[in-house]
Amino acid sequence: MDYYGSQINNLIAQLGSLPGIGQKSAQRLAFHIINMPQEKVEQLAASLTDARQHVRYCRDCGTLTDQELCPICADMKRDHHTIMVVETSRDLAAYERTGRYEGVYHVLQGVINPQLGIGPADIRLKELMHRLQGDVDEVIIATGSSLEGETTAMYISKLVKPTGIKVTRIASGVPVGGDLEYIDEVTLLRALDGRVEL
Ligand code: ZN
Repeated sequence: MDYYGSQINNLIAQLGSLPGIGQKSAQRLAFHIINMPQEKVEQLAASLTDARQHVRYCRDCGTLTDQELCPICADMKRDHHTIMVVETSRDLAAYERTGRYEGVYHVLQGVINPQLGIGPADIRLKELMHRLQGDVDEVIIATGSSLEGETTAMYISKLVKPTGIKVTRIASGVPVGGDLEYIDEVTLLRALDGRVEL
């Protein structure tokens, strides 16, 4: 039944199509937005379209950024010979929050997941292999401990090993199936310090 009229229903439907936003949250957000000052709503709308227009993937590591190179890849003080492979930009952010990792990253933007039809060619592995032709001492595989994360880690180690570059895997201790994003910094550092050579 149409309680609200099509404009509000459309807004609720748009918000409800976002990940993690259920019908109730969508309604709450919609009513919140309708009650916001016009100017604030315009700022919100503009930041959505600006972000979509200008945000792109870093040329080297593939994280989301608005420059050709992200601030980490552009930072010459970082150790560019150590590359940590993570699933998403959110995982990169989790490691950055620890403030202790000095190398650079490679963001796969996904994991191998046969059930969802995501194969090795669908994540940024080709780009990783390309980077390894440069001067790299160590590849730290920091994909999650889900089945897909482990499968991806195995796949990467098989790809990298023949190059002779050292390949390590962050220590388990990261909860099984846990998203790196939600794991506290102490646990992340322990996983990084306790990494083992594959
Ligand atoms: Zn980068």
